[in-house]
Amino acid sequence: MITSESEYLSSLYGKETHENEKVEREEYNKALAKRFPWIIPPEYKKNGYYGWTWLDAMEIGWRLAFGVQMCEEIQKELERINYVDEYVVLDVKEKWAELRWTSGGVPIKSKIFDIIDKYEKMSKTTCVDCGKQATYESTGYILPLCESCVERLIKDYDYLTKDNFVRIHPVMFNEGEE
Ligand SMILES: [Zn+2]
Repeated sequence: MITSESEYLSSLYGKETHENEKVEREEYNKALAKRFPWIIPPEYKKNGYYGWTWLDAMEIGWRLAFGVQMCEEIQKELERINYVDEYVVLDVKEKWAELRWTSGGVPIKSKIFDIIDKYEKMSKTTCVDCGKQATYESTGYILPLCESCVERLIKDYDYLTKDNFVRIHPVMFNEGEE
């Protein structure tokens, strides 16, 4: 049984270790959808398809660092404004080294967009591969990365050198900071 985000991700991206993995991932996603009903696109849910959630559209490092935490905050705010059943996620992706989380309309006075904004900003200094604090940014296709992931990439890919990465100055985020 898959019980954590890291187990889910290693099941998804690691070697298949047993044939039940797909079913286990679906069970895990079903549990996610119980906590966050909007995490699965409505048409998937209607068809009983639990093979994918919007968290699967997020960079692995970001998902590990704050994926579920972000969902919890959104859900809490939706419950507060009584908007759980109406809320829809339209798109989750990475653009210009930053998370982009696009929702359908929400009541003007809700804090949904502030929550999303906070995590989008946080993503800019969170390693896309492992979720640690990013201290580098790749050039060309820009992505935030930590030092150990940069070193691993340079080791793994012959065409990459230190020149392909620039140092960035991470912004620290404190709890409750707007
Ligand atoms: Zn990293």
